[in-house]
Amino acid sequence: VAVWCPQGQQVSCGHIVTCAGLHSDRLAHISGCSPQPRIVPFRGDYLLLKPEKSYLVKGNIYPVPNPRFPFLGFHFTPRMDGSVWLGPNAVLAFKREGYKLLDFSPGDFLDAVTYSGLWKLVLRNVSYGLGELYRAFSLSAQVRQLQRFIPEVTTNDVLRGPSGVRAQALDSEGNLVDDFVFDGGSGAVGSRILHVRNAPSPAATSSLAIAAAIADEAQRRFRL
Ligand SMILES: Cc1cc2nc3c(=O)[nH]c(=O)nc-3n(C[C@H](O)[C@H](O)[C@H](O)COP(=O)(O)OP(=O)(O)OC[C@H]3O[C@@H](n4cnc5c(N)ncnc54)[C@H](O)[C@@H]3O)c2cc1C
Repeated sequence: VAVWCPQGQQVSCGHIVTCAGLHSDRLAHISGCSPQPRIVPFRGDYLLLKPEKSYLVKGNIYPVPNPRFPFLGFHFTPRMDGSVWLGPNAVLAFKREGYKLLDFSPGDFLDAVTYSGLWKLVLRNVSYGLGELYRAFSLSAQVRQLQRFIPEVTTNDVLRGPSGVRAQALDSEGNLVDDFVFDGGSGAVGSRILHVRNAPSPAATSSLAIAAAIADEAQRRFRL
């Protein structure tokens, strides 16, 4: 199988494992797999605790997960560099790599809003979605979430911080896919490809257990 890199070089390999995050559905689809589950991008914005207030957070603080949205919920994350990240929220992004509030891609937007699965999800969770959207614009609404854990935190203690975009796999019934999805194409090329279409969090980042699961799957599919 030959893979062309954006810089122009070509890599030849016997088998391919793709882990393409926000583009995992598109890569799978072009190699003959089902278009489902689709990826819908949700942006998560963080706030930063001002350094003079970082003494308030001495360890990770997480809410008890809501079983309907186990990956949501504002949390407090003290980082190795001493900074403290607060959040994230989750709002529909209008671009797959839409890291800023007003980022927009006509193709990605159309892709999302013409997907029936997204509408089913939205209609089932209108009030929750509107709440998240409101919090994306309102600093004081975000701080109110934080005050449930640390009442001393005020809007004067936080700054707007970085954002991430979650690659949310969504089935056609509007269900958030919360387990691993492995897929493979068909034919001479497709059968040499293993697509990791969904790697759900939490505990996903740098997880050796996930790497082992993918290696087992590759061994099984490719009969290595
Ligand atoms: C705001 C936010 C907070 C999160 N917090 C946590 C957390 O606390 N704990 C946790 O476990 N998880 C967390 N996650 C989830 C975690 O980031 C994902 O579960 C994990 O990154 C998925 O891994 P992946 O390898 O499937 O995709 P990604 O990490 O998205 O990697 C995909 C890679 O493929 C590349 N790519 C895409 N298309 C192509 C192409 N055509 N050709 C070549 N390369 C391509 C991309 O550039 C990218 O480098 C968070 C996610 C977000 C957005």
